[in-house]
Amino acid sequence: AENMNTRQQCKRIYSWVGRAKSSDQQLKTFQYRGILIKSERSLTEMCVLLGEFVLVEGENADQPFVAKLLKLYEDGSQEKHAVVQWFSRITELPLNKRKLLQREVSPQEIFLDKAPGYDTDINVETIIKNVKVIPLAPEEAVPVRSNGKQIFFVKESWDGKCFKPLSPGLLSELKETEKNERVGSPKTDRITRSTVKTKNIQMEIESRHSASKSSLSKERHSQRVANGINTPGARKKLQLNSMYTAILLVLLIHLLLFAKLIAELLDLETEVLCLSIVQHRQLSDFLNISEQDREDDYLPSTDCSDSSSSEEEESMMPCTPKRKMRSSTTLSTPKSLRKPSDIISAKTPRKTTPRNATPRIPIRNQATEKPANVLEEARLRLHVSTIPGSLPCREEEFQDIYNFVESKLIDGTGGCMYISGVPGTGKTVTVHEVIRCLQQAAENDELPSFQFIEINGMKLTDPHQAYVQILQLLTGQKVTATHAAELLAKLFSTPGPKRKTTVLIVDELDLLWTRKQDVMYNLFDWPTQKQAKLIILAIANTMDLPERIMMNRVASRLGLTRMSFQPYTYKQLQQIISSRLNHIKAFEEDAIQLVSRKVAALSGDARRCLDICRRSTEICEFSSQKSASGLVSMAHVMKAIDEMFSSPYINSIRNASLHEQMFLKAIIAEFRRSGLEEATVQQIYHQHVALCRIEGLQIPTVSEIMAICSRLGACRFLLVESNNKYLHVRVRLNISQDDVMYALKQE
Ligand code: ATP
Ligand code: MG
Repeated sequence: AENMNTRQQCKRIYSWVGRAKSSDQQLKTFQYRGILIKSERSLTEMCVLLGEFVLVEGENADQPFVAKLLKLYEDGSQEKHAVVQWFSRITELPLNKRKLLQREVSPQEIFLDKAPGYDTDINVETIIKNVKVIPLAPEEAVPVRSNGKQIFFVKESWDGKCFKPLSPGLLSELKETEKNERVGSPKTDRITRSTVKTKNIQMEIESRHSASKSSLSKERHSQRVANGINTPGARKKLQLNSMYTAILLVLLIHLLLFAKLIAELLDLETEVLCLSIVQHRQLSDFLNISEQDREDDYLPSTDCSDSSSSEEEESMMPCTPKRKMRSSTTLSTPKSLRKPSDIISAKTPRKTTPRNATPRIPIRNQATEKPANVLEEARLRLHVSTIPGSLPCREEEFQDIYNFVESKLIDGTGGCMYISGVPGTGKTVTVHEVIRCLQQAAENDELPSFQFIEINGMKLTDPHQAYVQILQLLTGQKVTATHAAELLAKLFSTPGPKRKTTVLIVDELDLLWTRKQDVMYNLFDWPTQKQAKLIILAIANTMDLPERIMMNRVASRLGLTRMSFQPYTYKQLQQIISSRLNHIKAFEEDAIQLVSRKVAALSGDARRCLDICRRSTEICEFSSQKSASGLVSMAHVMKAIDEMFSSPYINSIRNASLHEQMFLKAIIAEFRRSGLEEATVQQIYHQHVALCRIEGLQIPTVSEIMAICSRLGACRFLLVESNNKYLHVRVRLNISQDDVMYALKQE
């Protein structure tokens, strides 16, 4: 089926109407009174004048945007521009704000959209055609139009916060436009093909320009829904339809019954029920059977009878089909149309109670208990999942990331910031705090609003699922990875002047590594396109991922902004613990110092630091030898640290040969030198030789080094690249640097 007028599919040629009015000699801008849109294929022309309403290409080909033409101009670059006032369908407005209207909204109703943040300067070539918009006074109801012509009604405006009736001045101005249009329209539409008679012009233009079969039928369908099928014409059509479909239905019901029978045998009842609901839903949508009837016929009447219970409870019980249906509009249906559903209800055995009662999580009816003592309170505050009230020692990083995103939001452009650092350096927590503050600012109208989405490499089963997730979060569509990649590429390369900027966090980027590196490459590439309006904050442990991905491509073109989070120093860790404890006296001062020093010496990982502190409070609470003060002491902390680092790995490192230990030290030395988490054997060998000189040990030969490396690889201490590159083989640690450091320091 042919789609609606995307520019690629139906080429349109645009030319100015009327003489240019030079508005600025210096900037060479010329204003025009109208634009002539000529369809190359159908040889039709239409003229759109200032003040008229137009459809503008959007992301969704079936739902073009509606706008009023305010200005038409051309600048020095010879590009044709239009300035518009946007009008939005209800579906374009934020979900949580729609309920402010407190009434049903017809699909033909649009709202004068004064919400800030949309670009109003568009490329003329995104204009599809003109469209009729009828203004309504507050007391007027939105009329129901059944003929196929696309008409919109406007009676309220939306300013990003609330809905308001159109002001009298605006209303009369819009009415004026409408009147002019009515008088002028036959003259403005012209057709160049002489064989077509004038009375067909409008139709011709309509069908050639707007209407693919699917979109027309969709239009009709939505109108029928809006009409509540009260118009005689629609009813006649439906009855005819129902005759054919009744036959179809009977066939289908038999099929369903058969499927149900098998399913019952397999104890898969519930799924099939859902399936049949879906199928029935599609059929009856076609027939416009009332939702209520369907519910009565199909759903067990008792299982959801407690649906008045709390949201929380409801969401745990998969009675979702009913919930979904209930939320959709209920239309009153003439009795004569109920035939097909009667057939169904007669033939389908009614289900009264669900056989397999859905498992549900017991509801907690008591509030969680308050922490009983200081130690427990401290434990809560130190928990890694507790969001800290403030982020000491990351003020600068916070500000840099904030400024980066803020400036892009204000400019309406995009970009990518690459944030790297070893584990536990506060990357995730800082970036989330930035987003929280930006959202706050947007809510207070200090910043353009934006759409925020997040993906995490750790939570994806496959790197290519990143495409699927991003698309789903952006548009709600669920498609395969390959298709999602195509749709995203298209979305980010097509100008969508009305689209808000998207801020995307990609956490644990390291895990999106693929052989072709396409996922990471795209993530770095999309934001560089001007139309994308995409800001990506990519978080990774590895510092040089971009270089490795861009090896063959021009890395500089990407203009990456980088930021690296340094491991915390002992002073910083101390400050982080203290600020989290927030004056709760649970630790002796030197105990906090000991944890901080130990962790800073090993890795500077705040997560590990907090873990050790938490464990210390437990050891303190349950140990027989309480300190005099009753607080966590150095002894408790020492015990926690010992526990934490008593993995079998650490023991086997301690029992490894001298040169094997030396090799591990050399690896860490090399990682620290390069700031990377990977090195070649050759690089490590240099470090190894240096360490041997310091310690006065005999320097091993290259083949000895290779043997050491492969043995450590066999023990799974190391990940060694499996190829024959000899000294150029790349090596990574398979255990944490902390563990290695700890094992080697204890001698
Ligand atoms: P990874 O690379 O492993 O994902 P990360 O750098 O994202 O690590 P976070 O998850 O941000 O680390 O931080 C680890 C823990 O340390 C979190 O619980 C976080 O709350 C805490 N933390 C980190 N930095 C600070 C800070 N400056 N103030 C308070 N808490 C912090
Ligand atoms: Mg993280």
